[in-house]
Amino acid sequence: MKCDVVVVGAGTSGLMAAISAASCGAKVVVVEQNQTAGKKLLLTGNGRCNVTNVCSMQEIIKHIVGNGKFLYSVFQQFNNQDIIAFFKELHVDLKVEDHGRVFPVSNKSKTILEALVNKAQSLGVVFQYQRVAKAIVVKNQQVVGLSTNQEVLSCDSVIMATGGASFPQTGSNGSGYGLIRRLGHHITPLLPSEVALVSKESFILDKTLMGLSLKDVCLSVMDQHKKVVSHRLDFLFTHFGVSGPSVLRCSSFVVKALQHQTTVTLQLDVLPDVSYETLKDFWYQKEVQTMMVKQWLKEYVPSRFAAFLLHQVSISEQQQIANVSKKQSQQLFSMLKEFRFEVCDSLPLQQAFVTMGGVSLKEIHAKTLESKLVKGLYFAGEIMDIHGYTGGYNITAAFAGGYVAGYWASQKKS
Ligand SMILES: Cc1cc2nc3c(=O)[nH]c(=O)nc-3n(C[C@H](O)[C@H](O)[C@H](O)COP(=O)(O)OP(=O)(O)OC[C@H]3O[C@@H](n4cnc5c(N)ncnc54)[C@H](O)[C@@H]3O)c2cc1C
Repeated sequence: MKCDVVVVGAGTSGLMAAISAASCGAKVVVVEQNQTAGKKLLLTGNGRCNVTNVCSMQEIIKHIVGNGKFLYSVFQQFNNQDIIAFFKELHVDLKVEDHGRVFPVSNKSKTILEALVNKAQSLGVVFQYQRVAKAIVVKNQQVVGLSTNQEVLSCDSVIMATGGASFPQTGSNGSGYGLIRRLGHHITPLLPSEVALVSKESFILDKTLMGLSLKDVCLSVMDQHKKVVSHRLDFLFTHFGVSGPSVLRCSSFVVKALQHQTTVTLQLDVLPDVSYETLKDFWYQKEVQTMMVKQWLKEYVPSRFAAFLLHQVSISEQQQIANVSKKQSQQLFSMLKEFRFEVCDSLPLQQAFVTMGGVSLKEIHAKTLESKLVKGLYFAGEIMDIHGYTGGYNITAAFAGGYVAGYWASQKKS
C-alpha cells in the first residue's frame, strides 16, 4: 500500500497529526496496535479528558517542566487557544474548571475521542488497527516506508506518535523507542513522573495516617534547607507513602534526585495562609488558654492529623494550652508549618501518569519536529523528551506537536 504520511499510534498526538496532515491534502494511514484509538486519552482527567488549559503561553511552557521551552516554536504554530477553537469547530462544547483546566461539557472523554476519530475519517484517514509498527524503512537517510506485523507501507514520511512507557495496558508500551534507536536516535533515561511516592517513615509503615487527605497544603522538595520546588494543592497519605496532586507535581524533582541519593526530604506547610507569627498570636490569645490543645488544633487540621501531631510532640489529648511548655508549642508550630519527612522511591514507571525522558531533543528540529538524522521522520507527543504536569499540559503538548508534525510531514509528499 502507498500513502503520503504514516502516523504510528492513534493516541492523543497521533490523531491530531493525522487530521492535520489530511487537512493539507495528504493521503494518511494511521497504524495502531490496539483494537481502538485513544485508550490513554480516555483515562485522562479521571475519564473526563482534560483537553487543555486556558492559562497563558508562558504558563503552559512553565508547567511543561521537562523541556517545555523546546515547544516554543510549536506553540507559535498551534497552541491551547487553537485547540479550543479546533473543538469548537467540531461542535464540541468545552468548559473551564479550577486551575484553568478545560473539559468537554459532557464530562466524557468519549466526546473528545469520537470528535477526533470522526474528523479524521471525514478527511479520508485510513485506520489500521491491530497493526504493530516493527521498523521504519529508510533509504539514503530518507523515510520510504513503515514495516508492520502485516505489510510494508510505502510513504514519504512517518510520524512517530507512540507515546511514553507508562500505563502500558493503554498500548503505549515503549515499543516505539526501539524503532527510533535503530536509526541512530538517542533516548534519554526513561523515568516515572507525575507519580506517587514511597516512604518508610514509621507513620507510613504503621498506617497511622493512611487515607488521610489534607486540602490546599504547600508541599516542598528540600535540598538541605533550600526549597527546590513547592506546590500548593491537595495531599494524600497512602498505605505505601504519599500521593495526591501536590505530590504528583513534586514527583519528577524527587525521582531525579533519587538517581543520586537514597532519600529525599519533603516539607509540608499545612497552613500556608497562616504565618508563624499569626499562629503564635492565635496560640497566646487570652480566651484560648483554657482550651484543650486538641480542640484548638481541630480549627486548623482534620482531627486525625491533630491526634498525630499531639502524639509527635508528646502533648496529651486533654492538655490545656496554658499548660503546654514553650518548647512543645514551638515543636507543634513547626509541625504545622514545616512538617518534614523522607521519601525513598516512587511507584514504577508503569504506574506513573507520565514518562520523563524520551527521544533526545538535540536530534529534532524544533520548528517542524522532523528528525535531524532521517528526513521524513517526525515525532509528536510523549515519545519526545518532554513531560509536563497533569492538568492538560501533556495533552496540550501532544495535540500541538501532533498538529505541527502533521502539517510539516504533509509538505513532504512527492
Ligand atoms: C491515567 C492517566 C491520566 C492522565 N491525565 C492527564 C491529565 O489530566 N492531563 C495531562 O496533561 N496529561 C494526562 N495524562 C498524560 C497524557 O494522557 C499523555 O501525555 C498523552 O496522552 C500522550 O499522548 P501520545 O499521543 O504521546 O501517546 P498515547 O496517547 O499514549 O498514544 C500512543 C499510541 O501509540 C500506540 N502504539 C505504541 N507503540 C506502537 C507500535 N509499535 N505500533 C503501533 N501502535 C503503537 C499505542 O497503542 C497508543 O495508542 C494522563 C495519563 C494517564 C495514564
